[in-house]
Amino acid sequence: MKNISLLKDRAWIEIDLRNLEDNIQEIKKILSKKTKIMAVVKANAYGHGDLLIAKELERIGIEDFAVATVEEGIKLRKNNIKGNILILGFTNFEDLKYVIEYDLIQTIIDYNYSEKIKVLELKSKLKCHIKIDTGMNRIGEKYEELEKISKIYENKKLNILGTFSHLCVSDSSVAEDIEFTKEQIKRFDECIKKLKDNGYDTGKIHLQSSYGTVNYNNLCYDYVRMGILMYGVDSSIESYNLKRLNLKPVLSLKARITSVKKIYKNDSVSYGRTYIAKNKQKIASVSIGYADGLPRNVSNKGLLVKVKDNYAPVIGRICMDQLSIDVSNIKEVEVGDIVTLIGIEKEISVEEVASKSGTISNELLSRLGYRLNRIIKEK
Ligand SMILES: *Cc1c(COP(=O)(O)O)cnc(C)c1O
Repeated sequence: MKNISLLKDRAWIEIDLRNLEDNIQEIKKILSKKTKIMAVVKANAYGHGDLLIAKELERIGIEDFAVATVEEGIKLRKNNIKGNILILGFTNFEDLKYVIEYDLIQTIIDYNYSEKIKVLELKSKLKCHIKIDTGMNRIGEKYEELEKISKIYENKKLNILGTFSHLCVSDSSVAEDIEFTKEQIKRFDECIKKLKDNGYDTGKIHLQSSYGTVNYNNLCYDYVRMGILMYGVDSSIESYNLKRLNLKPVLSLKARITSVKKIYKNDSVSYGRTYIAKNKQKIASVSIGYADGLPRNVSNKGLLVKVKDNYAPVIGRICMDQLSIDVSNIKEVEVGDIVTLIGIEKEISVEEVASKSGTISNELLSRLGYRLNRIIKEK
């Protein structure tokens, strides 16, 4: 256990739990009465800290969670998360005993997965949701394979609590993509209807994740699986977000200034000498680098950080543990000053940093490093 004073010594993540709660309330406003939020807390809750986020969500009434792996599920359960925990991805057959032991819910990937479970010796029935593939062509039994899907429902080893699918272009405003999403919805609805008509109990049904929820808001299934928007950020600046709810970022990324110095015309900064001073400048070193999850490829892209209510550009190459900024225009910069690299302002938003590094917020957040402490912002 680290000494408390060390928690903010170098680089850290600050979590605003009030924003998380507000986001949940905001999302609930557009859901039908019967629709519940399944909070997606995979990949360490998109870098926010899974226990921190799940505990707060449970405190404010969320009863359903989704993770990607059995290990993520076990971690939540061992730390006293009581709600339903759905594993969205594949679990090895040898590990399905843990799904039962820790009272988790497994996604049945497809017909073949279900068939292999038939021959396993399990202590009890396996709680599960059945995944239908409606056109993403990742996991899920194909929606046309009604006979195979029916056989999954007849598998005596399974305790089927739900049925779901996943949309793949619900964040797009391109007409063709909207048509495709509508087609996926139709395939899903028809498949569910046929199953019900044939007497199968599909359990809780769900289709939408964040963008499916805001852009196809007329649907009302039992759950929406909320990931990125619950954390208060868009996947990217270009994401089609019809509802534009008043969501607020939950995470900020901070570090400290460790050194301030003057450089002169033609002096270079950092590895590769990619930055050359045109004039006399005041620069500062900051204790955060790409090993902490700030991508090296945002070097020399005009990335801004915030210091004492001013914006300062990152200059030269980002190193593994440190980076440099130009603070020529900021008065009284000192060692120990806090630098905000990701925050609520547009200039330093996750979307902006992600865009400059050629990726989406989801990737940037989920890769924020293991060295960072997660600290709750004081109210
Ligand atoms: C990750 C994931 C989600 C959450 O997606 P967001 O776009 O972040 O809301 C939902 N469903 C499945 C199957 C996922 O893998």
